[in-house]
Amino acid sequence: MIVFMDTIVLKFGGSSVADNEKLKQVANKIIDLYNKGHRIVVVLSAQGKTTDKLIKEAKELSEDIEDRELDVLLSTGEQISVAKLSILLNHMGYKAISLTGWQAGVYTNNTNKNAIIENIDVSRILKELEENKIVIVTGFQGINENMDITTIGRGGSDTSAVAIAAALNAKNCYIFSDVDGVYTADPNKLPDAKKLSALSYEEMLEISNEGAKVLHNRCVEIGEKFKIPIITKCTFNNKAGTMISDIIEENTVKSIVQKDVSKISIIGNGIIRNFENLRKILDFLEKNKLEVSNIDIDENKVSICFKNIVENKYLEEMHRLLINEES
Ligand code: ADP
Ligand code: ASP
Ligand code: MG
Repeated sequence: MIVFMDTIVLKFGGSSVADNEKLKQVANKIIDLYNKGHRIVVVLSAQGKTTDKLIKEAKELSEDIEDRELDVLLSTGEQISVAKLSILLNHMGYKAISLTGWQAGVYTNNTNKNAIIENIDVSRILKELEENKIVIVTGFQGINENMDITTIGRGGSDTSAVAIAAALNAKNCYIFSDVDGVYTADPNKLPDAKKLSALSYEEMLEISNEGAKVLHNRCVEIGEKFKIPIITKCTFNNKAGTMISDIIEENTVKSIVQKDVSKISIIGNGIIRNFENLRKILDFLEKNKLEVSNIDIDENKVSICFKNIVENKYLEEMHRLLINEES
């Protein structure tokens, strides 16, 4: 008999649940943690590019889609994932149950397509956990006061997971995806990028707000408010991930993000006081004769807007100068 020691929330993104093979890897990860004595709530995204596909198909039917109807449609993607994973875990001999947003008690405001989670009534989740089940909840969706289905914004399953973790007072919220942590820049754009072992909520929020899609920005706000450590890891290996918590390390540049073609942000706690880095950034701009329209410096971030499109080589150079040379 397993003696449960704590509750953890595990979220798996679209690429992690894209097909039956990947669902099996996800199931094995869950079983491993369950057997180690964790009560487990799983939050899933829709499989692969399902959400994009549903949007495209709806647009082929109408140019003027009612937000409410789009939410009913898009919420089906997550419903497919949770049902499949539950079928699989039950088949593998583990008691599991899938729950939609409304069954799991996720209440939102009325803003279809970009609703805010207002309250989570966890009684159903707790009842199922008490029965030693693995509880699998749809990400990205909830229900409003009219009992209508809402969705909470693209990439929102991260936020569902951290909100559920907060409501359950879970020990940790793990976000599993195709990358094994948060890097100093998007590792798919910059092969030189390095994995960070820890980040503060403030730093992660800046990184998410600047457009790095590794974590949905609202999930970081919720994590900070309710003090839930968020750990990002890869579904497909066992490497250490990145821990996002309120532990602050001062004065190192943590990440460089290129939001669109003409804006680069450099993020790190207390960057405003790191004159050496500020000097390096200014020297870099001067040396490369880059025309700047605006520089915004605050406690944790330097954002540079350029007059023209910035080529990838400048992002690489900035990364080398501020991150690789420092380590
Ligand atoms: P999921 O579908 O599992 O929610 P996402 O695609 O939303 O996963 O997020 C993972 C992606 O985030 C990675 O494939 C990576 O390209 C991108 N990404 C952008 N910036 C970063 C960063 N600084 N560190 C890690 N990944 C990043
Ligand atoms: N399926 C939704 C999307 O593609 C939510 C998510 O994946 O987090 O945006
Ligand atoms: Mg995502």
